[in-house]
Amino acid sequence: MRAHVVTFGCQMNEYDTHAIQSELAGIGYSFVDDYREADLVLVNTCAVRGKPVEKAQTLLGELRKEKHRRRGAMTIGLMGCLAQLPEGRRMGEKFAVDIMLGPGAITEIVPAIERGKFQSFDFKNELQFYTPPPPLDAVSAHLTIMRGCNHRCTYCIVPQTRGAEVSRPATAILNEARALADAGVAEVTLLGQNVNSYGLADGTGTRRARLDGYPSFAELLRMVGRVGIPRVRFVTSHPVNFDDEIIEAIVDTPAVCRYIHLPVQSGSNRILKRMAREYTREFYLDRVRRLRELLPDATISTDLIAGFPGETEEDFEQTLALYREVRYDAAYMFIYSEREGTPAAIHFEDVPRAVKTERLGRLVELQKEMSFAQNKQWVGREVEVLVKGATDEAGFVQGHTRGNHVTFIKGHLAPGIHRATVVHATPNRLYCESPMSSVDSQEPAMARRELKVISLPLA
Ligand code: SAM
Ligand code: SF4
Repeated sequence: MRAHVVTFGCQMNEYDTHAIQSELAGIGYSFVDDYREADLVLVNTCAVRGKPVEKAQTLLGELRKEKHRRRGAMTIGLMGCLAQLPEGRRMGEKFAVDIMLGPGAITEIVPAIERGKFQSFDFKNELQFYTPPPPLDAVSAHLTIMRGCNHRCTYCIVPQTRGAEVSRPATAILNEARALADAGVAEVTLLGQNVNSYGLADGTGTRRARLDGYPSFAELLRMVGRVGIPRVRFVTSHPVNFDDEIIEAIVDTPAVCRYIHLPVQSGSNRILKRMAREYTREFYLDRVRRLRELLPDATISTDLIAGFPGETEEDFEQTLALYREVRYDAAYMFIYSEREGTPAAIHFEDVPRAVKTERLGRLVELQKEMSFAQNKQWVGREVEVLVKGATDEAGFVQGHTRGNHVTFIKGHLAPGIHRATVVHATPNRLYCESPMSSVDSQEPAMARRELKVISLPLA
């Protein structure tokens, strides 16, 4: 039996896909790269913006044709965030999908296949204890520590697709981290929509009661930092929960990378309020100030939305000014995308597309200028690079630093951790040289095998 699994969206979906594939492998499936060779095709979807939804829809159209050509002898599954929404359920019916599983029901994949026709949109409690085996031959892996989101950002569909926050028990997380360490993984990224509210009954507003028996996120970071994986990273942080205790845990724990992804979304208080982000520009800048004070070498990245409903030129200029003030190392920038059923879609008028596109263009220009300025500061310095494999630029291998800079090293180096010196910087990457890099360089302790790269862009 052969399966083809397509993944759209964030690292949490990548992690879920790995769990799904592990279950399928357990009942004898092998995996193929082309859906035309597969008996089972699963599409793990994203619904955060319109674009990934359109992509899933186009793919479902192709799959329906293929199924028709085979006179129905093919199983199609729609999984993840889109499957959870009315929009996805309509698509499921239209495109003759057999299996529909929401993001909280992925542990039902095996019974679903056995039945042939199946749907579940529950948020299964067992998912919190489910521990997938370490990915094969990877130097870098993801580890979901919590699911869902209790915030209510007015533009965002996630609370509807992934439900309320549920933190996984620390023992399950630590067992999974130990298994990754034993498998030789050099870097683990702890995942959650808002990892900072890990272990809290409700991380929003002023309600910060701790769940019985759960450590805080800062304590969890320290625990995972002691497991023996050389690099520990985490995404995503919500500024409102990014407290001093977390910054201190990063300072005290050498394994934790000095890289913070702190989405701001907008620099205008008026827009932040409309977005229901629960912080002001001043609060956000205070968090950045504290971060710089305690971790002067940390790299900081962010998420930004251009053209949120009601955003004026003045609001947008405040976003540009905040960007300059923080001097972000990197940013993920999006045009506002209206999502059916969100408060912003119901109550606010969308900004014309041309205005949104023009603003996004200005943001991208500023990001390039700032990233270039930040990256140039690394020239001449020695950095630690986690090499992942070959690049399409001949003669270089690719990896990333502890600060998440994309790094190209001249020569051949085995996957794993290496020291290298930055010799040149561009807005997007650091070019390095390493005394170890040659055709017959020695394999470092961390690089055990040829690897399969499993990390993905942030959003
Ligand atoms: N939980 C994370 C946080 O609060 O920062 C982010 C999760 S969301 C999947 C990733 C990013 O997508 C957000 O930070 C936001 O910038 C963007 N995003 C979410 N909804 C969007 C929408 N309707 N239009 C455009 N961008 C959106
Ligand atoms: Fe969406 Fe993140 Fe806001 Fe939650 S905190 S609603 S996931 S943007």
